[in-house]
Amino acid sequence: VHNSQDAVVLCSPKGAFVYANPSAYEFFGFQRREETVLTHLHDLVCPSDRERFETTVWPRILEGPWEGEVRFCRQDGRTQVGWLRAGVVPGDTGTPEFAYAIIRDISHLKAAEEAVRHAEEYYRTLFRTSRDAVVVTDGSERIVDVNEPAFPNMFGYLRHEVLGQPLSMLTAHETESSSASGLEAALRAERATLKWRRKDGSLFTGEATLGVLQDANAGLRGYVRVIRDVSEREGILQRLEQAYHDLKSLDELKDKFLAGISHDLRAPLVPVRAFLEKLLQGRWGPLTLRQEEFLRYCLIGVSREMILVEELLDYTRIRSGSLTLRSEKVDLQDVIRASLFLLKILAETNRLTVVVDMPVEPIPIMGDYNKLLRIFHNLFSNAVKYNRPGGHVTVRGKWEGPARFRVSVEDSGIGIPQEDLRRIFDDFYRVGDSGTVARGSGIGLAVVRELVRLHGAELDVQSTLGVGSMFAVIFPVAGQG
Ligand code: ADP
Repeated sequence: VHNSQDAVVLCSPKGAFVYANPSAYEFFGFQRREETVLTHLHDLVCPSDRERFETTVWPRILEGPWEGEVRFCRQDGRTQVGWLRAGVVPGDTGTPEFAYAIIRDISHLKAAEEAVRHAEEYYRTLFRTSRDAVVVTDGSERIVDVNEPAFPNMFGYLRHEVLGQPLSMLTAHETESSSASGLEAALRAERATLKWRRKDGSLFTGEATLGVLQDANAGLRGYVRVIRDVSEREGILQRLEQAYHDLKSLDELKDKFLAGISHDLRAPLVPVRAFLEKLLQGRWGPLTLRQEEFLRYCLIGVSREMILVEELLDYTRIRSGSLTLRSEKVDLQDVIRASLFLLKILAETNRLTVVVDMPVEPIPIMGDYNKLLRIFHNLFSNAVKYNRPGGHVTVRGKWEGPARFRVSVEDSGIGIPQEDLRRIFDDFYRVGDSGTVARGSGIGLAVVRELVRLHGAELDVQSTLGVGSMFAVIFPVAGQG
């Protein structure tokens, strides 16, 4: 008794302590043995349990052995839950001489029990309040539990109608499920979207998340499936997909239409421009000043139209991936000279000064003459379009080392905000207020970028808002021979 881990107390039939072992001092929080003298077991019972103890428990103990849970108050005020086994030691006369009490501290057990109870309550609440249906099955996939109200709401079955039934009553038949052979696999997957069956036979798409339940020996106890009705999401996805396909085919139709129309638009312009150029060059006799002036206007108009149409053509070729170069050895000087002809006419009409600063030697590069013309026509016409009255356009050429030649086009125009600089080469992108300055399609620079890339050249752009812009193309120069 002295060495027992349980608290052992011997009392008078009225409950006064006669003996207490060391575990009892510890259990009740006594420091010294003397403190137990004059102590009554009743007084150590917690106030909440005391009345029951005095009126029911103690009389029972005096009649014979009793055991049960009792809450005691320690000397330091803490509550201690004990499992009490008590009875009496009869005296010579047969009446109880002593009562004994053996108390095992079960506070930790109680705390653990409480924690388990809280956890269970917590998960029960989750189970009950979940908007997803939860289905618990045993190892052979028979339903052992479902949550309410989410499960009945989703499936139309009441809880008792499905308990003990096979899970297969809730799934679509193999033939109805979108992936027949996949149904088994989907049911075993950690997360899978599959077709489920309601009580009325209708099907819906549900995303199921699977959890495996194990028993104490890590054996299979069953499964938990959390099922979310995603039919609405599926519907939206399908509509989105449809819209995407519709848009894609519309986009392709647009490209086809653009390709066709720009081709047809271009054809009649080619001879018109050629005749105008020849007339202006005086090939068919001298012109009066008036005639020359009007012919110039005509040439500008036709040239603008052609640039636009050719841009469109190139754009559609870029989109379809069919833009290729007819590459040959070209003298960049020839390209620039030919483009300057147009630039000078445009500049004159807009009262702009053109400054040309080019070296005189040939600059051999590998490229497509017509596409190179397009690059410069584009940059030159932008330099004129986005300029200010009385401004200038400077075309400068200079070597960058022995194998690179840089041609820059500087203007004194409206400039481009820094945040737009990277986007001006995107399809159809135009800087916010450009529309008020000049009309345009927004594809010119997109085409320039692609043509520059195909020539193995690089682009450089710098611009200051309100001061002007500089667009430069740096070409790799072809070796001699
Ligand atoms: P657009 O047909 O509109 O001229 P581009 O692709 O040639 O199309 O140019 C895209 C946009 O870049 C233009 O709308 C304009 O806002 C801006 N931009 C191009 N070149 C210049 C320039 N030299 N000065 C100022 N802004 C320019």
